[in-house]
Amino acid sequence: MAQQGTINVTTDNIFPIIKQFLYSDQEIFLRELVSNAVDATQKRKMLAQLGEITEITGTPQVEVLLDEEAGTMTIRDAGIGMTAEEIDKYINQIAFSGATDFLEKYKDADAKQAIIGHFGLGFYSAFMVADRVDIVTLSQREGSKAVKWSCDGSPNFSLEDVDKAHAGTDIVLHISEDAKEYLAQERIREILNTYCKFMPVEIVQGTKSEYVDDPVGAKDDEGNVKKVSVDVPFVVNKTEPAWTKKPADLQDEDYAEFYRDLYPMNFEDPLFHIHLNVDFPFNLTGILYFPKLKKQMDLQKNRIHLYSNQVFITDNVENIVPDFLTLLHGVIDSPDIPLNVSRSYLQEDANVKKISGHISKKVSDKLAQMFKKDRPVFEAQWDDLRVFVEYGMLTDEKFAERAQKFFLYKDSEGKCHTHEELMAAVGETQKDKHGKVILPYTPHVEGQHSYVKEATDRGYKVLVMDGPLAAHVVGKLEQTHSDVQFKRVDADIADKLIEKDEELTSALDDAQQDTLKPILEGAFPGEGYKVQFAPMSPNAAPLVITQSEFMRRMKEQQAVGGGGFQMFGDMPDSYEVTVNANHPLATSLLNETDDAKRNALAKQAANLARLSQGLLEGEELTAFIQNGFAQLHQD
Ligand code: ADP
Repeated sequence: MAQQGTINVTTDNIFPIIKQFLYSDQEIFLRELVSNAVDATQKRKMLAQLGEITEITGTPQVEVLLDEEAGTMTIRDAGIGMTAEEIDKYINQIAFSGATDFLEKYKDADAKQAIIGHFGLGFYSAFMVADRVDIVTLSQREGSKAVKWSCDGSPNFSLEDVDKAHAGTDIVLHISEDAKEYLAQERIREILNTYCKFMPVEIVQGTKSEYVDDPVGAKDDEGNVKKVSVDVPFVVNKTEPAWTKKPADLQDEDYAEFYRDLYPMNFEDPLFHIHLNVDFPFNLTGILYFPKLKKQMDLQKNRIHLYSNQVFITDNVENIVPDFLTLLHGVIDSPDIPLNVSRSYLQEDANVKKISGHISKKVSDKLAQMFKKDRPVFEAQWDDLRVFVEYGMLTDEKFAERAQKFFLYKDSEGKCHTHEELMAAVGETQKDKHGKVILPYTPHVEGQHSYVKEATDRGYKVLVMDGPLAAHVVGKLEQTHSDVQFKRVDADIADKLIEKDEELTSALDDAQQDTLKPILEGAFPGEGYKVQFAPMSPNAAPLVITQSEFMRRMKEQQAVGGGGFQMFGDMPDSYEVTVNANHPLATSLLNETDDAKRNALAKQAANLARLSQGLLEGEELTAFIQNGFAQLHQD
């Protein structure tokens, strides 16, 4: 007769609690049961080495078997198995004190998966999907008897002797009515693929009713090809994923193949990888890949998978690695990351801090090494790396320091310079009268062509600062290098971008300027344009529209998110119109006595100036173009 007993828990019935609290993560029951089976399989080897078992039997394999008709799922292993005493110790005596405190502490939605494992609830998560769970098990220890434990989700269980041919354990789940989805092969395949894809023991999925030759050719005790119960006859997992191997044993193709295993839907190859391998002061292995970013930061975020001893935990590594590193792809495996605490607490955890500091350093070391070893290749990849490096510089002070070695400025001719090289090249020519080195830049060489040309004609290097973080990066670089100042090429007229002591003389006196000013003001729309005069070279443009560096930068930083600039939110754009007092157009305007003609001339000049800054739009642009066409056949 079966022995009866009561599971040792302090609440009357913990199963409804398990069901309720873990519901959204329900599918992880399979991860828990399969990883128990994997552990048991690995342990048998260990016990044999210790001499505690003399002969290991059965294929070291875990089978996940679905029997739709019977409504069961069986997780079968040929691992160490359990004796009746061990069942009592490991299954019946759940270390579970103060259930109320426990629930209070883990109300946090984040902590759901932490509950499991932390209190040894792994096995009991089976009750999320099953009305009844049987454990049929035979210990590998010599002379053991097979037993069957059975429990229907109440704290009462039964235990009886049974026959079992092979040592190992069958966990049989009698799937409940509301969890029937777990009897479908596709659904199970999907779950196994998520959580068990890289577990260290072979996992085979199949049905309980149909037995075929083992697709991997494993032999049974008599040396015959084993019959396994599979109708989806393939092994689900790769037991030795690349990150568990030594870098010396891997070729580039192995890393590429592993990347494809990780992201079968991602068709773009990564740029390069970093193989992480630390065993002191914490354990961490992994492979990180640099994707081609192409400035689309958000699309690429959160692709790193976190594992603990080859068991998938999560693909949300927020708070575990620094934010900029979430742009990378790949795997991190560490048994030292505490998963039984809430995420906000994780950030404060000393181990986690060390781990993220370490990863950040490894990444900057790798970039520095690539830069040093093969600069042309590094430069060729820079456009894809840049956003990542910039994000790191803005959010991780130590990374910013290390990045000084390999951060590159690209100029309007496509040439790359480190900060040091740039200073050596422009330090004297671009120094203004206050001793600051002025760095003119543009977000778009083609779009600001006339401004870029004015600056390069003067011998200045114009840097290309584009991408979503440009405004913040410019600020950050000025903070780091207090002797430089960035100015967008349209922040001032080219003569004034870099203020020198020498002054050109003006062809217009004050009275003449006063005459021209209202005429030119009338040629621009509204309040947003302030007209002023400056003596420039007669070959420079007659009118130049600029926007103050300060105002524009505030607006840009605010647009990409950055605190403290709210007050600029509703300010309309304002522009400076500088009239070249030495240009022949200024004289023509003065000498024109016909008011209508003079206004038309001023208007035409104003429109051309706006056009070159991309400020002529809509109806005005249409009218301007039609007018231009009309003149073609009038003349
Ligand atoms: P944990 O795995 O976190 O210890 P579980 O509740 O999942 O907690 O399992 C409790 C214990 O039951 C395990 O530590 C192990 O000793 C035993 N056990 C569970 N599943 C198996 C199995 N398939 N084979 C042998 N022993 C098992």
